[in-house]
This record gives sequence, C-alpha cells and structure tokens, in this order.
Amino acid sequence: MIRFGPAGNGNSFYEAGHKSSLEIPEYLADVGLNAYEYQCGRGVNVKGEFCRQLAAKAREYKIFLSLHAPYFINLGTSDPKVMESSLRHIAKSLAAAKDMEATRIVVHPGSVGKNSRSEALARAERLLAQTAAELMPSFPGISLCLETMGKINQLGTLDEVIGLCKLDKCFMPTIDFGHLHARDLGAIKGRDEFEEVLDRIASSLGAEVVQNLHVHFSAIEFARGGEIRHRTFAEREYGPDFEPLAAIIARDRLTPVIISESAGAQTEDALAMKELVQRYQTGEGGRDV
Ligand SMILES: [Zn+2]
Repeated sequence: MIRFGPAGNGNSFYEAGHKSSLEIPEYLADVGLNAYEYQCGRGVNVKGEFCRQLAAKAREYKIFLSLHAPYFINLGTSDPKVMESSLRHIAKSLAAAKDMEATRIVVHPGSVGKNSRSEALARAERLLAQTAAELMPSFPGISLCLETMGKINQLGTLDEVIGLCKLDKCFMPTIDFGHLHARDLGAIKGRDEFEEVLDRIASSLGAEVVQNLHVHFSAIEFARGGEIRHRTFAEREYGPDFEPLAAIIARDRLTPVIISESAGAQTEDALAMKELVQRYQTGEGGRDV
C-alpha cells in the first residue's frame, strides 16, 4: 500500500479548530491520508502516555506513523559532547517511536563543519556502527532512516546516505527529493533524474528498499549553498515536479511512504501527490512514461 501524509500538523489542521496531535489520525483519515510523521525536530519532549494514545489512534484510523528525530543530532561532529548528545537524542527518538508503534525514525546525518568531508563521514560511520551495536537491538522492527540533505555543507548526498545505510540492515534511506534537487542546484528535471536516484538505491541497497522507500517531497527554494527553505506546490516557480515520480510509482507498482514537508500546506500537498499517483494508476495520467 502506498502511504501519503504530512510532516507534522499543517495550517489547515489548526484552522479547522484542532489543537492536539491526538486528533490528527482521525483528521487525516477523514481527508483521505494514511501516514503521519511526528515531529521531534526540537527535541523528544513527549511523554510515554501521549505516545501510547497516539499509537492507539493511529491503529484505529490506520495511519502509518514515523518519527522525525531532533535536528541537533550531528553524527559528523568531532566534539565528544555532541557525539554523546547525538546518541542520546537517537535513543530517546527510538524509545518514543516504540511507544508510538512507529517503525521508522528519520535522522539527519549532520554537518561537515570545519572538517574535511571524508573525516566527518568517517565519524558518522563510527557513531552509526555504535548505534547499530548498542541501541538498535533494543528496538527490533524499527529502522533508522538517514535523510538526504539540502545544504551542501551538510552530510547527506545520495551516495553518502547509501554508504551509511550499507553499514547495517537497521539503516534505511529517507530520500528527500526536494533536498537532492536543492543541493545539486535544480538537478531533478524529470523522469530520468528520478529513475537514476531509484536505480542507484536499488543497485546498492536492493530493490526491496526502493519498493518500500521512505520519501520526503516538497517544493524547495535554493541558492548557491543549496536549500534555503521549503515551499508549497501552489508556489509553482519552485521544483522539483512530483508528476514524473508519480508516473514511475504507478508504473512500477511501488509502495513508498511519501511525506509532504510543504511549508504549512503539507496536508493539501500530500493529497495532491496522492491524487496524481491515482491518476497514473487508473491510466488517466497526462504523461507517457
Ligand atoms: Zn528532515
């Protein structure tokens, strides 16, 4: 089954009078969505009881839950304190995900900082090896999904993410196509570029990973250093265009989880993506792929 949903609560959720994220599974089911990425970007500040209630609601309304881990995680750091706090943030994210019955946590690999890129990457590999050995065995069934990042001085090119995922089968990629587009300064122009990304993942991590890929998708503004900010589909001057990917998903019968990170309009844009895929599934799509 393909999953579509928002990253956190969009503006329309609050405009409809909702307040608590415990109301979001029912809200999403009502509008026709079936995934939700709970945001812990500023820290894992949720109580176990809340997580268990969210899990029950998600089960009731058949919403696939994932959890976005804190932005403070920096696996490339040379500072022992930041290494330690990064592991702590990952451990707390895993514990909250377990309580939520979420099976995926999304983690940013971190920054390159003043170091060379290869040194930062080597440190990230060591911390992830430690994570796989010491933390992950307590959380069977949960994958740590390393995200492709939009700024050039962040770790998280496609190749870096693939390399990190190869360390252990508990790691999976989160492919943020907006970020890939931004860091390569508008590289994703159409079907060929989407195919290339998916082919590289399949050949290095296996077809199964592409089949059930964790995807972030939003329009994005970028400049010389890569990502500036997430935009919405309504702001049509910003890419990448989702339609070629919709066509590929329908053609290859892929079953990804697709999370919209559009600024404020993530519910509407998740629905727009769902409708585009459905058009291609029913043969009503506009482009020949
Ligand atoms: Zn992210």
